[in-house]
Amino acid sequence: MHLKGKRAIVTGSNSGIGLGVAVELARAGADVVINSFTDRPEDHALASQIAAEHGVAVRYIAADMSSAADCRALVESAGGCDILVNNAGIQFVAPIDEFPTERWDAIIAINLSSAFHTTAVALGGMRERGWGRVINIASAHGLTASPYKSAYIAAKHGVVGLSKTVALECAGQGITCNAICPGYVLTPLVEAQIPGQMKAHNMGRDEVVKKVMLARQPSGDFATVEQIGGTVVFLCSDAAAQITGTTISVDGGWTAL
Ligand code: NAD
Repeated sequence: MHLKGKRAIVTGSNSGIGLGVAVELARAGADVVINSFTDRPEDHALASQIAAEHGVAVRYIAADMSSAADCRALVESAGGCDILVNNAGIQFVAPIDEFPTERWDAIIAINLSSAFHTTAVALGGMRERGWGRVINIASAHGLTASPYKSAYIAAKHGVVGLSKTVALECAGQGITCNAICPGYVLTPLVEAQIPGQMKAHNMGRDEVVKKVMLARQPSGDFATVEQIGGTVVFLCSDAAAQITGTTISVDGGWTAL
């Protein structure tokens, strides 16, 4: 319960890694704001469920991370935060000469620019309180590349650079900023890529998962959302107070190859 009294915002957290991170922060005692662009009864019910399970305050705030105004309004309507986890992200796969401009713009907005806008608003309160954690969910694709993912890889490399810059601007102020770089984590975003990969490689599900998707993950296993959440909680601990401006890979050895 070392995060009791801290307020966290996790963008894109009604599913996948963001939800896993929100749950681990709640388990560690933080009050949490979860978010996505929808505003359905089940989004609010999810917040109530996490609150009841972990005995912390959890709110759902709808905000579209492709909109600069919504990103800024999210942090403002939450009343600021001590822990900001920029997690919202989308993917699109196509050769660069066929890559739709609209998809490029959406990926850069949601996966990169949203972190700029939320961080810009959140830092003031963190500075006043002399404590803050900005944690950006980048990717192994923030450090390496693969074909056909130009926008995603450009955005994730951008997130790594943004994290370093924010770390330097906040150094010595009790605020750290880092990027977590997961390899493949089995979430809806990855599930959605499996049919396309099966078609492209003419393989069944198990074969395409092992031979294609996890080919660069030497452990041969997906990382879990709980492991990413646990890494976020570690970065919020006193043990991590001097870890700033860097990347932490949770990738089964991907970037060691
Ligand atoms: P996911 O599709 O399960 O979750 C994405 C979340 O972002 C959802 O909650 C979705 O509602 C939200 N979202 C999408 N567009 C949004 C918008 N415009 N405004 C607000 N919220 C929006 O995906 P995931 O796999 O959990 O991915 C989460 C993050 O982790 C992404 O940034 C992704 O790039 C990164 N990541 C994922 C993996 C992986 O293997 N799953 C690996 C490395 C990095």
